[in-house]
Amino acid sequence: MAKITDGIYFVHGQDEFIPDSHTYVIGEPSSMDLSIIDVGLAGKGRYKIQAILQDGIELNAIKRIIMTHTHFDHIGCISEILNEIPHAELWVHINEAELLEKGDDRAVYGMEMFKDMCQMQYGLASDAFKLKVHKKLEGGEKFLLGNMEWEIIHIPGHSSGGIALYNKEKKVLIPGDVVYADYAIGRFDLFGADAKELKNSLLKLSKLEVDMLLPGHNQLVKGLPSDYIFRTMKMWEPYLV
Ligand SMILES: [Zn+2]
Ligand SMILES: [Zn+2]
Repeated sequence: MAKITDGIYFVHGQDEFIPDSHTYVIGEPSSMDLSIIDVGLAGKGRYKIQAILQDGIELNAIKRIIMTHTHFDHIGCISEILNEIPHAELWVHINEAELLEKGDDRAVYGMEMFKDMCQMQYGLASDAFKLKVHKKLEGGEKFLLGNMEWEIIHIPGHSSGGIALYNKEKKVLIPGDVVYADYAIGRFDLFGADAKELKNSLLKLSKLEVDMLLPGHNQLVKGLPSDYIFRTMKMWEPYLV
């Protein structure tokens, strides 16, 4: 696990023919109040847990798992992780939390064809993503997590329950798959996606002061140009209708 800055740690996704999302751990380790942001692809639980342990972080310091959204490449190894840290709470935006609790996995797989492929490839049961969610997020909440203040921002468009985590003090943004490095944005053709909402979400994020962009995949960016998210939105605007 790599340290990005005090209180923010990072495990690089280990992509296969399906991508594995990056995993972030936030909070000051001495607080014993750490949060995992996104767990990753099915089969990657052991790799993620070992990376966390290698940094001397005790698993009982991890109190919760917060999902930026529930796509398979982000939530796929949730059962593997919960086996290791059964005391951890699961926090998900209400739009996707209610689906998980009902065992409706459309927001996990995004499309029917992909569901069949993943279930076969990873030997997953049909109810693998029927999960209890301990906190249903709505956006606008501010939480003190591991001695740091994190704001939850609802950013639908890539998925209906997408959230970003934002730390104003350090100007750190964790936007899931909504915006990446190199002017890339998340796809908007899967279940629950909406191109217009994605545009509005990018616009919402463009108003934040962001120095560090920590997306769900690919490069992390430090020293993000102040108009980066706005310019990204502008580039994609013709498609976001
Ligand atoms: Zn996604
Ligand atoms: Zn992803």
